[in-house]
Amino acid sequence: MLIGPGGAGKGTVAAALTARVPDLWLSRSWTTRPRRPGEDPNAYVWVTPEEFRRRVAEGGFFEWAEYLGNLYGTPVPDPPPGSDVLLEIDLQGAEQVVAKRPDAVVILLLPPSFDVQRARLVSRGDPDEHVRRRLEKGREEVVHGHELARYEVVNADLEQAVEELAGIVCATRRKDVDAP
Ligand code: 5GP
Repeated sequence: MLIGPGGAGKGTVAAALTARVPDLWLSRSWTTRPRRPGEDPNAYVWVTPEEFRRRVAEGGFFEWAEYLGNLYGTPVPDPPPGSDVLLEIDLQGAEQVVAKRPDAVVILLLPPSFDVQRARLVSRGDPDEHVRRRLEKGREEVVHGHELARYEVVNADLEQAVEELAGIVCATRRKDVDAP
């Protein structure tokens, strides 16, 4: 699982990591958040709150959470055989997954500085108020993220961050193979 405050670059890093590491399958979340102008139409499955709630009632989510007024959920994963699953989710979701799967690996992705974090959020075109709320929420995510995460990676340079994460995936796979 990749967690971290808004502006850490989780989405970009997750996409680059799955493109680089074989047999790593990125789950596509459902969300009720409106799509941002220019946002990749495949970034999420965009649904209404009613559709989301229906899936919750049907037990169709592995985890779900409310984040700043919108709902986000991971459908029960259905990866190709032999693939590992990568989730890019918020802290509350990660806590639910760890409770279900204590062997899950949590990685905290961090922005290199507050200024870079803010600049990344502003560049998405969100209103100032959204940026402010995400920065505030992000502080909380970092404090609790430190407690939950097994690894921490600073995303100053995309290539380097992806390299580090690929190393973590490799090391985790080796440990799983070596485990008695
Ligand atoms: P954003 O609106 O910036 O795309 O996402 C807001 C937050 O929701 C981010 O921290 C993102 O990682 C998280 N998120 C995205 N998908 C899911 C999901 O399926 N479950 C949970 N719990 N959080 C998610």
